[in-house]
Amino acid sequence: MSAGLSAILLRKRQPHLRIGLVDAADLTQKQSPTWSFHGSDLTAEQRAVIQPCLSAKWPAYEVHFPEYKRVLDLEYASVRAADFFAHLKSLMGADLRDRCEIADVRSNAVVLADGSSITAQVVVDARGWSRATNHDKGTVGYQKFFGMDLRLKAPHGLKHPRVMDASIAQVDGFRFFYVLPWTADSLLIEDTRYTLDPLIDKEQMRREIATYAEAQGWQVAEVEREEQGCLPIPFRPTALPTTASLAWGVRAGAFHPTTGYSFVFAMEAADWISRVPMAADFGERVRHLQSQMARRQRFFYWINRMMFWEQPGRRYKLLQRFYRLPEGTVARFYSARFGPLDYLRFFGGKPPIPTTKALSIFPNHKKVQFEHGC
Ligand SMILES: Cc1cc2nc3c(=O)[nH]c(=O)nc-3n(C[C@H](O)[C@H](O)[C@H](O)COP(=O)(O)OP(=O)(O)OC[C@H]3O[C@@H](n4cnc5c(N)ncnc54)[C@H](O)[C@@H]3O)c2cc1C
Repeated sequence: MSAGLSAILLRKRQPHLRIGLVDAADLTQKQSPTWSFHGSDLTAEQRAVIQPCLSAKWPAYEVHFPEYKRVLDLEYASVRAADFFAHLKSLMGADLRDRCEIADVRSNAVVLADGSSITAQVVVDARGWSRATNHDKGTVGYQKFFGMDLRLKAPHGLKHPRVMDASIAQVDGFRFFYVLPWTADSLLIEDTRYTLDPLIDKEQMRREIATYAEAQGWQVAEVEREEQGCLPIPFRPTALPTTASLAWGVRAGAFHPTTGYSFVFAMEAADWISRVPMAADFGERVRHLQSQMARRQRFFYWINRMMFWEQPGRRYKLLQRFYRLPEGTVARFYSARFGPLDYLRFFGGKPPIPTTKALSIFPNHKKVQFEHGC
């Protein structure tokens, strides 16, 4: 996704450049994931760029907690993988080579699995999580989720997405259902858990989604698609692989530490790369950009430590309190652009989880490696 967004913006702003994308997946068949973001995360120009593959947008969304429900007048939008890759393919034509496995990425060349290679003045490695990206004991939790696109027998009646319904049993950690209404009678329901256990029990989560749908009075006509993921929620900066090539996207650590999402970081990086001349100091400039992003992430490691310090069944309290804050603060949290007043609001009053707990040594657990769907 990050490389695709960069290619789209480069095509637009530096059309004289020859750009190639190589991907192992069959992008015509790729149905997952769904990338969501707040409308305010993007500039007007960035929104115009993504408009052709926007799958849905809503003027507001709601959150449910044991103590209250709230509708936030914040625009929310989603891009489905199928829409994104169809758009990307139409723009890139033969310069997008999918079903093409990469064996090695070097500073000025990509070596393909068939032994051939492609050389370029600049190569970025956006192959997602690296196997070399390890997280040591106690340095990471997970956001794991399993979702189903369902077509219903009758309209669901939802006006906006339910970005967090945490009014449900808090098993496995902080847990909520995430609901995106695609059309009047179709929606995505995702069972999401902030947990120390990365394993996804698909059968169990399918049953939980069916039970949730039934409790809402929704009768399922058909399951149209499923998606799953397990994203790292790190407690401190991630050690990145040291390679000769330039990492890009989540491989370069460009994601929101608390939500695990990366669309906004990918868009910012795409916007940046599309304005930068491909000069000799390009690598240096990329590293500078990445260190600026890393600075914005720091506060969120603290939040993650606070949340995971708490007993699994009580972790929701942090978000329950957070979502009482003004809409602007909520939006800036998601784009990792917290200002001084936002910090004061976040820590003001009596946080439900003591902030000092973020300093605690974390309980031991396994060393892990990341891949989607771990
Ligand atoms: C189910 C799910 C839902 C999500 N929802 C959201 C969301 O709502 N909002 C959000 O911002 N983020 C979301 N995320 C996270 C987001 O998908 C990732 O953070 C994002 O896709 C990372 O972008 P990337 O470009 O770095 O890597 P990827 O999008 O993972 O792209 C890496 C690409 O590299 C290719 N590749 C890997 N190895 C090779 C190889 N050897 N040769 C050739 N190609 C290779 C892969 O085929 C893949 O296409 C979700 C993730 C999942 C799994």
